[in-house]
Amino acid sequence: MHDLTALVTGFQPFAGGADNASWQAVRILPDDIALAGGGLRLVREELPVTFAGAAERVRELIAQVNPDVIVHVGLDATAQAIKLETTAYNEATATIPDNAGAQPDHEAIVPGGSHVLHSSWAAHALAGRLVAAGLPVTTSDDAGRYVCNTTLYTALDATGTDQARPTGFVHVPLASCVDTPTVAHTLTALLTELADQVRRHRAWDAGQSRLIIPRSARPLRVGLTGGIGSGKSTVAGELAARGAHVVDADAVARAVVEPGQAGLDEIRQAFGETVLRPDGSLDRAALAARVFDDDEARARLEAIILPRVAFTAARQMEAADPGQVAVYDVPLLAEGGMADLFDAVVVVTALREPRLDRLEARGLSRADAEARMSRQASDEEREALADLVLRNDAGLGELRRQVDQLWGTLSGRD
Ligand code: ATP
Repeated sequence: MHDLTALVTGFQPFAGGADNASWQAVRILPDDIALAGGGLRLVREELPVTFAGAAERVRELIAQVNPDVIVHVGLDATAQAIKLETTAYNEATATIPDNAGAQPDHEAIVPGGSHVLHSSWAAHALAGRLVAAGLPVTTSDDAGRYVCNTTLYTALDATGTDQARPTGFVHVPLASCVDTPTVAHTLTALLTELADQVRRHRAWDAGQSRLIIPRSARPLRVGLTGGIGSGKSTVAGELAARGAHVVDADAVARAVVEPGQAGLDEIRQAFGETVLRPDGSLDRAALAARVFDDDEARARLEAIILPRVAFTAARQMEAADPGQVAVYDVPLLAEGGMADLFDAVVVVTALREPRLDRLEARGLSRADAEARMSRQASDEEREALADLVLRNDAGLGELRRQVDQLWGTLSGRD
């Protein structure tokens, strides 16, 4: 049964060179990847190492095949691990000519197109899952300016960076660094993740629960979210007490900026010593003041923290046993476009007044709580993404009753 089709490309050898490691790996992929209760058919193609030829062929293939998932693969001879790219630039340039002799000098790939396009896959979370499976994967935010970047940019331009149709680029190292079967195995695992994401999106889009999509022997991954003060951490605690493996996004966000972590070094480089305490740890209040009312500074901070949180949390989720329920307690699931990464999205809602009261009881001023609420997605926006909703408008006893029911659904007893 072939529910879905993936377009997977590698490259021809560089002029006069040996086999290209990208095509070596793509060539040995299976024709069909078995998904739990379905299948993914692969359409493979060896692209020319020319700016014009690769771009033209990518457009033709996307139009002809109408793939559900697109993964382009290229060689990065300096790479030490398999790199999931996040970003492509509308610029072709080369220090060496391509196989047709072209050597563009900062030419636009798509005249008048956006300067930057971002891969429509959750690269950091995917990398976290693949690393948890023992695969040599990392992420990179620069596909270069050579034919690899041209291929990714052209594909993103053709698919419209639609998250429901994940499109991305993988740079693979030389076969002497990571052997070809390992690269092929990693690509298969990546394609499986992406195909399952598409299947869940389609189920949700059709008004069904993501939970109907069968899964292989791995933990059930649940995204748990809700507005500030809705009670999601209370729900997470109740689920943990029933046997769930819980990963708390706020705790991960603190851990990735602890002294000794690269995240803290980047923050120091971006914002200076004034956001550090004398002992070298992060001064959260100073950092919050620094980014308060400064959208650009906040975006810079998020660009440092969010990818690290996504990677680390995804890796930690996989530490659950295969039959276990793994729960990611994350405030900004809706805002981060993460819903289809999970087998189920659970949203906790609560009326505004009780939320404000609970937050006040926790020591947050009403004005502060309201300001934070206004920066988050609305309950309606969150509920629109949900597979299951818990309404936390009454007492804790009522909430526990709903968690019992939820646990029955998630642990497969109901
Ligand atoms: P945040 O976004 O700030 O992390 P949250 O959504 O995780 O908030 P909780 O921390 O679970 O929310 O709940 C906020 C406060 O409200 C806590 O002090 C919690 O004990 C309390 N609370 C949660 N649900 C109820 C309830 N049904 N009745 C009474 N108090 C509750």
